[in-house]
Amino acid sequence: MFTLDEKFWSKVNKTETCWIWIGGKSSKGYGRLRIGSKFFSPHRIVMKCVDSSIDVCHKCDNPSCVNPDHLFIGTRKDNMQDASKKGRLTREKLYANKKERSKVQWARYYKKHRKKLLEKRKLKRNLGFV
Ligand SMILES: [Zn+2]
Repeated sequence: MFTLDEKFWSKVNKTETCWIWIGGKSSKGYGRLRIGSKFFSPHRIVMKCVDSSIDVCHKCDNPSCVNPDHLFIGTRKDNMQDASKKGRLTREKLYANKKERSKVQWARYYKKHRKKLLEKRKLKRNLGFV
């Protein structure tokens, strides 16, 4: 079923490093290949690994790359660890925490300095700033 034929390779642009899939792509930048009524990931087909419980990961972090030298087979957990090691997940998490933290800090600050802040605002208003 999954033959790496001319049709397949006609959709691949082999550069010196990555082999870029130039066919259809998903919103995440992964290649998508339609076979019959189903869609498959070309990088999985290259690795002959279309089982969705097994992940085919990219060493090169280029989701559209189908160079077997740049791919490795990992479990879902591996892939998550790999992603977090590369900072993809941690950055998101940190950002969320920071936002949350600043909200709490502001609430605390406001509580402590409410009077001063209100006075400041009143003063501003009196001066015609607000
Ligand atoms: Zn690559």
